[in-house]
Amino acid sequence: MTDLLLDQYQEIVGEEVINSLRQLAEPLRGTKVVHVNSTREGGGVAEILHRMIPLKKELGLDPCWEVIVGEGDFYQCTKYMHNTLQGNRFEISRSLLKLYEDTNEENAERLRGQLEEADFVFIHDPQPAPLLSWCSGRKGKWIWRCHIDVSRPYRPVWKYLRDFVEPYDASIWSLAEFAQPLHHPLYLIAPSIDPLSEKNKELSETELQEILKRSKLDPYRPIVAQISRFDRFKDPVGVIQAFRLAKKFVSLQLVLAGGGATDDPEGDEVLAEVKAAAMGDLDIHVMLLPSDAHRTINGLQRISDIVLQKSTKEGFGLTVTEAMWKGKPVIGGEVGGICLQVHNHHTGFLVNTPEGAALRIRYLLTHRDKLEEMGRKARQFILENFLITRHVREYLTLMLAVLQGSEARIELA
Ligand code: UDP
Repeated sequence: MTDLLLDQYQEIVGEEVINSLRQLAEPLRGTKVVHVNSTREGGGVAEILHRMIPLKKELGLDPCWEVIVGEGDFYQCTKYMHNTLQGNRFEISRSLLKLYEDTNEENAERLRGQLEEADFVFIHDPQPAPLLSWCSGRKGKWIWRCHIDVSRPYRPVWKYLRDFVEPYDASIWSLAEFAQPLHHPLYLIAPSIDPLSEKNKELSETELQEILKRSKLDPYRPIVAQISRFDRFKDPVGVIQAFRLAKKFVSLQLVLAGGGATDDPEGDEVLAEVKAAAMGDLDIHVMLLPSDAHRTINGLQRISDIVLQKSTKEGFGLTVTEAMWKGKPVIGGEVGGICLQVHNHHTGFLVNTPEGAALRIRYLLTHRDKLEEMGRKARQFILENFLITRHVREYLTLMLAVLQGSEARIELA
């Protein structure tokens, strides 16, 4: 087996896709690209960056990934920001915002040389957005990449953040509904998963059996699972309600598994709420996972009959992509990026309430042929739309477009 990532991807997506990546990357050979976010572990952004950096490197670019650091209150502030940008009404205190700005200034001190020298800087999400304000000697293009569901942000917080984001050369959004009016070019790029990662590659039957055993699950009864950070927008308590309703009609087990992210201070509180809601039901398996539990998550998704992602807000939902890639029908909240992936009645079901989710669980478990057909369609849909090769192609195209400014065509060698 070849060591080259591109050769391995070619076996999955075909030669044409890989050739077009090579062609797009050629004019960008040696381009210094820095990505900045706020955590190396936990959450979708870290997941994507771990996989994208090596691929860009193999394509001849010169990419690196930096993480900003701050104290506890900094993450509290950015979590409030995240929650309010996703629609919660809440006033963030002046002192916390000051800490947010100061922390970014300190990180700019540390990273300035590298950031000012880079040809492209991709700043992910609100946490590091102010870095640009302290890099006045910048040489390259700066792009702000928004991963969250800002379809209906709490306006005062968006207005505050907008002042930091407006001076960027461009911004990227996952969905048209999220894009906010700004004076620079706005691009739409959906996230992706890596089919070669520990999280997504095939696992042996023996390993799946071990995961079943380790998780104390009954191999003879259906399993539904939601695997997500313990975050209120993911609605884990709503999942438990749906499970309890469905269980009145069909025998089943629920897995609610997830860990935290280093930039998410609310995880413990939400986990406590989940444990309280699950209390007394031996068929609800709440699992706190370590940050490197990629194979376990892979296995849990594979041994499940149905995967839930009952979010009430969702930037994209890589967990949805991961499950669909494994041929699982997903019952997802009818919000944000889930709607890009789950086409109601075709690649899964979209729901708005625990009752709706329960109804769909019951339907799928009693119509196995439909469950399997949906799973097949789901995998094909991900293959065609949400793998890393498409994602990198769009990033390369964006870089060329930004470099070539207002020219109408991108000329490739
Ligand atoms: N994830 C993980 N461990 C966990 C929970 C989630 O590795 O305990 C992964 C999950 O498999 C997915 C990503 O983190 O790849 C979460 O991305 P998503 O877009 O679903 O949600 P986010 O956490 O970014 O809101």
